[in-house]
Amino acid sequence: MPAGIPVFDGHNDTLQRLLPRTGDAPQSILDHGDSGHLDVPRARAGGMAGGFFAIYIRAQESRNPPEPVPDDNNAWTWTPSAIDVAWARAECDRLLTGIDAMFDAHPDQLMRCLTHDDLVACLSDDRLGILLHIEGAAMIGPDCAELPELYERGIRSIGPVWSRPNCFAHGIRFGWPSSNDIGPGLTEAGRRLVAECEALGIAIDLSHMNRQGFLDTAQCATKPLIATHCGAHDLCESARNLTDDQLRMVADSGGVVGVNFYTGDLRGDGLNHADMPLDRLVDHVLYMLDVMGEDHVALGSDFDGAVMCDELGDASGFPRLLELITGRGVSDTALSKIAHGNFLRVLEHHLT
Ligand SMILES: [Zn+2]
Repeated sequence: MPAGIPVFDGHNDTLQRLLPRTGDAPQSILDHGDSGHLDVPRARAGGMAGGFFAIYIRAQESRNPPEPVPDDNNAWTWTPSAIDVAWARAECDRLLTGIDAMFDAHPDQLMRCLTHDDLVACLSDDRLGILLHIEGAAMIGPDCAELPELYERGIRSIGPVWSRPNCFAHGIRFGWPSSNDIGPGLTEAGRRLVAECEALGIAIDLSHMNRQGFLDTAQCATKPLIATHCGAHDLCESARNLTDDQLRMVADSGGVVGVNFYTGDLRGDGLNHADMPLDRLVDHVLYMLDVMGEDHVALGSDFDGAVMCDELGDASGFPRLLELITGRGVSDTALSKIAHGNFLRVLEHHLT
């Protein structure tokens, strides 16, 4: 990767963009895309060494989530409904097959991150490190029988829920302004999933959980907590963001939160507009540094899955972001932890 501080990023939805399910032709991760945020050229330009690449299952009936409709005060909520398990399994298989083909086609450009050693290696390797993550475990049944095969196929991180319910938990609806204290927490199967992931060497992601799901997971987890892409609720009252006590629980566990770049979770006015100063993202970074300390804050872009601010643009904008963080008085040591060190330290506990 290029000179400068390498970034290991907490979340992107790039695989969904590269491997569309109908109509659009697949795109190559080697080509600089006309749209979206992340591919090998833009990762290289931004010093991105690797990250969590999500397998996210879109609803069968729609290609994209509907735009939430704000009321006169800009307040809005959107509660996605559950998806069919057989559909989720077929989609997961399609995406994993597509990813295998990408690794086979570009062994000199892509690096599969399966172990902590792989994560360390990708920081200084020319290849882009890919840690496969499942965002919403709708393809897994309550007995978790699919887990060993998913591990074999390279999955090393699972968020039990996206913002729709499944047999493990209920997730958090989208909304602003909104508490995240909505609905019940983990089911019995959800507790089983956490335990079996820990035993196999798969990290559990708290992003998209409602408060009770977060608390239940924290209670049954024995390893440091991870939220790969969330903002600070005190700065933006999005249902997806974490309150101070949740941030402290993550820090107390020795864990990490990746600050989400999605403008709708950062701005504070409930809008997902791109005309947001990049400094607003830095506000969330500094806020979390204040609440949690420098060993627990990281970056979780949500590239190709959310609206980015124009000033950042795409993955090539990482150096601008790191420079702004430095400009706000963060030391080089802390910056290195935020850029990659904290995720790598915490994942050492999760990956076997
Ligand atoms: Zn997400």
